[in-house]
Amino acid sequence: MQEKFNPFRIAQEQLDQVAAKLELDPVTHQLLRNPMHEMSAALPVKMDDGSTKIFQGFRVQYNMSRGPGKGGIRWHPRETLDTVRALAAWMTWKTAVVDIPLGGAKGGVVCNPGEMSMGEKERLARAYIRAFAGSLGMTKDVPAPDVYTTPQIMAWMMDEYETIAGECHPGVITGKPVPLGGSKGRSDATARGGIYVTREAGRAFDITLIGSSMAVMGFGNVGQNAALLGEEILGLKVVAVSDSRGGVYNSRGLDAKQLVEYKNTNGTLKGFPNGEEITNDELLQLKVTVLFPAALENVITQENASRINCNICCELANGPTTPEADEVLDTNGVVVLPDFLANAGGVTVSYFEQVQNANNFYWDLQEVHSRLNAKMTSAFQNVYDVCEYNDVSLRQGAYMLAVARVAEACKLRGWV
Ligand code: NAD
Repeated sequence: MQEKFNPFRIAQEQLDQVAAKLELDPVTHQLLRNPMHEMSAALPVKMDDGSTKIFQGFRVQYNMSRGPGKGGIRWHPRETLDTVRALAAWMTWKTAVVDIPLGGAKGGVVCNPGEMSMGEKERLARAYIRAFAGSLGMTKDVPAPDVYTTPQIMAWMMDEYETIAGECHPGVITGKPVPLGGSKGRSDATARGGIYVTREAGRAFDITLIGSSMAVMGFGNVGQNAALLGEEILGLKVVAVSDSRGGVYNSRGLDAKQLVEYKNTNGTLKGFPNGEEITNDELLQLKVTVLFPAALENVITQENASRINCNICCELANGPTTPEADEVLDTNGVVVLPDFLANAGGVTVSYFEQVQNANNFYWDLQEVHSRLNAKMTSAFQNVYDVCEYNDVSLRQGAYMLAVARVAEACKLRGWV
């Protein structure tokens, strides 16, 4: 990865900008620039061919001043400690911006799940928990899914933790399957939260959504649900979607349900009828009302930012836009819903899951949706008010609100 795209440097740069705006004292600024606790472990896993492979695993607990750590575990061949640090920092701002009583953390394993059998994945999931169990738990740090980790992987992880503890701890991990204490509504919560803030942005900036177009980059958990719910809740028409192997486009519209079925049956979007092939870069540059980047970091860069042609860019992925590109989008009048606000629906329902596990009492789907709607609507409104008052972009406003909340918690604890 090129140094200028190091996500942790980007996360630190974003913090530096907001520290200046908030006139944060230098000690608090220094504390918030780095993780408070980070761990790395070698994870030996027996492979199906009888060999043993050593995987590298990470867990970063960035800041827990507002509550126990919270953040997903990503399995990716190009995972790095700096990516995990950046994601843990963004989790800290994310839990703060939606005002839930949790800190920020993140985990990762360098691996290629596409080349692993179910048995190998299960043994890797269990090895990860054995390495980090001492630092995990409802009062310490609670993981969840992220890229290429699934509810099934969360189930194995919970089971391993409970085996070690010798008692039930459903709240040790969120994003579990519903029969094991997962929350109803968790599987589409990230996209749903993004759809709610897009609706609010449409109202605030007077952008008509119903009947307008959307494009989705990344067609996994978040991207698929964004397409389905964008259609269902906002009345948006899907014109293009893509995954790591490319995408499909039709200016007259594509059926979101058919796209999801096709991708999940064939493992690819290639060959989808009623559409033409499109590259990821072409998709990003389409003239659409709403663009949902829902894959990985650093896809909107200085190189392509001036050609981004949407009214609203709802960052469902973490870190899709570099700081240089962000300035270009801002100058060009694109309403950017920043990642740690736009994709906070997932952690919000993860928090609801923890609350339900702690009480051993479960909510119906309607209750989850209405509580999520209330949280995301008020988070957008709070950020918008900060922006209006300070005449800053939504990203800067979200940062100002979140960092001020974390700084206040650090101060109240007497850390700074
Ligand atoms: P996922 O593994 O379910 O899907 C990822 C998708 O991105 C896949 O379709 C993959 O093919 C595609 N992809 C990978 N590389 C790509 C590339 N270079 N170009 C285009 N597509 C590419 O992951 P997910 O859970 O949907 O997460 C997607 C993003 O949302 C990540 O940035 C993640 O951190 C973020 N996020 C996820 C959650 C959650 O609850 N799952 C919560 C908050 C943020």
